Parts: sequence; structure tokens; C-alpha cells
Amino acid sequence: MSMNPHQQAIKQLEKVAGLLRSEYHDEDTARFDAAIERLKEPDRVIEGQLEVEMDDGRSETFQAYRAQHNNARGPYKGGIRFHPDVSKEEVKALSTWMTWKCAVTGIPYGGGKGGVVVDPKKLSQNELQRLSRAYARLITPYIGPQVDIPAPDVNTTPQTMAWMVEEYQQEVGRQAKVVDSSHSAAENPLATFTGKPVTLGGSEGREEATGLGGVVVMEKLVEQLFPTKEKKQITVAIQGFGNVGYWFAYLAHQKGYSVVAISDSRGGIYAPQGLDPEYVLNYKKEHGSLPSDGVQEISNAELLELAVDLLVPSALEGVIDKENAHRIQAKAVIEMANGPTTSEADEVLAARNVFVVPDVLANAGGVSTSYFEWVQNLQGYSWPLQEVTTRLKKIMETAFTEMWQMHQKTGQTGRVSAYMTAVQRVVDAMIMRGQV
Ligand code: GLU
Repeated sequence: MSMNPHQQAIKQLEKVAGLLRSEYHDEDTARFDAAIERLKEPDRVIEGQLEVEMDDGRSETFQAYRAQHNNARGPYKGGIRFHPDVSKEEVKALSTWMTWKCAVTGIPYGGGKGGVVVDPKKLSQNELQRLSRAYARLITPYIGPQVDIPAPDVNTTPQTMAWMVEEYQQEVGRQAKVVDSSHSAAENPLATFTGKPVTLGGSEGREEATGLGGVVVMEKLVEQLFPTKEKKQITVAIQGFGNVGYWFAYLAHQKGYSVVAISDSRGGIYAPQGLDPEYVLNYKKEHGSLPSDGVQEISNAELLELAVDLLVPSALEGVIDKENAHRIQAKAVIEMANGPTTSEADEVLAARNVFVVPDVLANAGGVSTSYFEWVQNLQGYSWPLQEVTTRLKKIMETAFTEMWQMHQKTGQTGRVSAYMTAVQRVVDAMIMRGQV
């Protein structure tokens, strides 16, 4: 059986630790080893059963988790996903990757991640609201603007965050026995969640931020890999058409790249002459499926193996594995999903010279803009879109350049190169705090 995502995360860490260890001397070597051991497991995992009343009056229970991996560099930070495949091991892995992601970009956070085992497509809006509120009550004692700051992830939205902010604020009031819990004792509830609606303390530019960050990274990669190619000649296949996949596709198309394939959870479409992502989204909204006119219908598996320049997995973990890694024809992979490539597949791709921009860098635009949202909430002042995107571009370009220079210097893969910087930053913070 293949490794679960948390085992993958441990394996990645061990590999990088082996490379970094010689940079630590004398008693710091023991501290380094202790830090690495500790980073293999999250600091804690909060779990519980959420009791939710369904519209027909029945009550159902849903298993829920929040993993807090590490906070040496700042409060735990990361999204909450609603998906039937959520598991404790998955949430642990995702929280570990958040620690590296925040360190790679240099934003002052640690890593966390939450999840509920649920198929949200089967729930009404009212049921989703009650589920979101139940989740917020479960984690209320463990979150706060300087403690742990949740955000959206797979199948959660600004609306989800709005419900959670409201419930969190009321729950803090109830726990503090404030008479009217709407005047709650919560310290800055808006700064406790990011990815909120703009009218409720959300940031301009947060919605498209993950996709935009990915496209900034793509442009830097293209400068290195295809310096003489025209944008129109560069073909891109995108797997997954949620918030991240859509915005990546839309912005890449807008910049002049050829988005030739798109897929959602049910299947994909391929058009060598290029697709218009905005048209595809509008069609999907109206008809519930991707358009089929003038395109070739393909499966998700086929999309991954297309002969394109850039493959952009933007959905879930483990889609590039040891079975299909040999058949990937793309020249480079930009991981907009978290954990789309298994460690076995990573080795196959490296041997075949397929450059992988790792998730912890490629999709860090989301959490970076969450950071700007949090800063604005703490300041009680909101920034114009232009300020957000200028700062986001700078963070992404710097993180890419650091990764690329490390890759040039060491000959290691993109993932190992990004991890070397990230793991070192986290370990150093733990050593300086005297935690190890
Ligand atoms: N869920 C996103 C991620 O995996 C965003 C996390 C955040 O904004 O805190 O990076």
C-alpha cells in the first residue's frame, strides 16, 4: 500500500534534514535533531464529533479535526476543508506543509489545518451554516488572532468564514458568560479568520490570490525554462476548476498563455487551439458541467498525461503517483494543489528532468494574502487592491528566486530547495526560542 500523506510529509522532512544537518555544529547538532523529531508530528490535533441538525429534523454527526503543527515563527495558520476523504493523517500532513509554506515566503506564521469529513455537495445552505458554526464552536478555545488563524481551503468559502466569525464571537461571549454574547469578549474576531468576505473585513484580492501567486511563479519559471518561447506557444493543462484552478486558468489566459486543458472532479476538456476559462466557468455555472462543443472530452487521468509545457494540478493530493509519473509529458509541474505529487513520483519526475515547483511555494499566494488581510484587520485599516497585489507579487518573486538559486547551487529539486530554506527557518526559530 502506498504511504499516507503524513508519512509522505515525514519522508520529505527526513530527506531535507539529511542535507541540512551538516550546517549545524557542536551542541546545535543535537538541537537540530531534536527539532526535526518534533516537527514530524503536529504540536496537537483537536478532534471532535460535530452534531448537526439536518433540514428534515434528523441530526447527523461529522468527524472534525484541527491540526496545529508548529508555531515557532508565529501563530498557527491554515485553511479548513470540507471533503469526504478528510482524515486525521491528511490534516496532519496539510498542517505540516503550511508550516513550510509560511516559512518559504517568510510570513510570520506557523502551520495549521482543519477538516471535516463531509460531502458538502449533499448539504443545503442552512445545513452548511450549522455545520460551519458547530466547527467554529469546537475550535473556539484553541484559536485567536495571536494563536491560530483559520481560512478557507477545499470546498470552503468566504461565506463559510463569515459564519465561523459570527459563531466564534458568540461562543467566546458565552464561555466568558457575557450577558449579551453579541457584545462578546473576543479579541478582534475579524483577525481570527482570513479569507472573509470583503464587506466583513476580508481583503481586496484574497479571492484570486492563490491563482495570481501561481501565475507570478509560472512567469518566473518560464523565464528560466523557455526564455525564447512566445507566451502563446506555451501550453498549460490545469487539473481542478475550483477557486485555485479557475483563477490560475483565467489569469494565465489573460496574460497570453495557451490554456489547452481544464478539468473538474467529473472530467476534463482539451482544445489544442486554447480555451477561454471565463467562458468555461460561465458555461459550468449555467449547465452544471464543462462545455463539450469544439473540444475533446478527456478524463482527469488523461489530462495529467497530455503533451503540454506546463501541468498544473489544482485539486487534491496524490494525483501524480508512481503509476503515472513515467507517463507525464509536461516539461514542468506547478503544484497549485497541496501534495499532488507522491514522494515516489517526485523521484521519477526528477530522474526524467521534469521540474516541479512545489506546493509550498507555488500556492503560497493564498496564505500570503491572508497575512495581508490579518495585518489590515489588526490595523483596522483596509488597503486598496493595488497595494495587495504589488506586495503579493514581491513575496512570490522573492520566494521563487530563493528556491531557484538554491536549486542552481545544490542541484537539488525545486521541492528540496524550497524545503531547505523553510526547514532551516523553522528549526532556527525553535533553537533561538530555546524550545529544543
Ligand atoms: N488553504 C490555503 C492553503 O492551503 C490558504 C491558507 C490560509 O490562507 O491560511 O494555503
